[in-house]
Amino acid sequence: MTYNAFGLSRDISSDVKRLVRQKCGFGCVICGLGIVQYEHVDPEFKDARKHDPDAIALLCPQCHAKITTGMWSKARVKLAMRNPKCLQQGYSREFFDIVDDHPSLQFGGVLLRNCPTPIAVAGHPLFSIEPPEYPGEPFRFSGLFTDSNGQVTLSIEDNEWKAATRSWDVEVKANSITIREKARKIHLLLKVNPPKEIIVERLDMVLAGLRFEANGDFLRVHFPNGGCNEFTSCIADNCMIGMSF
Ligand SMILES: [Zn+2]
Repeated sequence: MTYNAFGLSRDISSDVKRLVRQKCGFGCVICGLGIVQYEHVDPEFKDARKHDPDAIALLCPQCHAKITTGMWSKARVKLAMRNPKCLQQGYSREFFDIVDDHPSLQFGGVLLRNCPTPIAVAGHPLFSIEPPEYPGEPFRFSGLFTDSNGQVTLSIEDNEWKAATRSWDVEVKANSITIREKARKIHLLLKVNPPKEIIVERLDMVLAGLRFEANGDFLRVHFPNGGCNEFTSCIADNCMIGMSF
């Protein structure tokens, strides 16, 4: 563990990190990319006596490198912190790494393989997987997740994901995206195992009157009439529509 001259550890507490994420709109303050690092701006880490969320910015690795090498100025970061890119546009964004092979979707207890429309709701695709536009290009995964109030929190279009800044918290760590509605209330935990697996590990989502609840190895679909279907260890393979509700 690294400490500065004032005995401050490099490790930032999870609460301070969340405050920084909320303040920055969950992405790089300069360009809006959703894969980020925490950078002490003013004061810099060597001069800091505490981890002050107002003095720390989210930066993507590329913008971070431009600042630390001196190619770009700290003034640019300070300016961006006052008007973060993600809060301007309403989302942070990045791409999933999918190649020229049909990706699979593990949705709680259901594995959907080779299904162009893994899940459809009320006749509309909730997710779609389209073949490459040109040979050698990637398959194109699209879809959306909503929270327990039916608000879109994560939308995906041709492998580009956008996480809405209206969420309480969006945390991108290693190969996962975690979206929380409030403290200790995870609405979505999505993991990727590139280049062809997308895994919904946890979900609590309401769409078109249906509640989708996934946790580890099950998927429960609650219907407006009070009924519920539970799916565990199901595999849908080579179906035009994997699951339809
Ligand atoms: Zn950036």
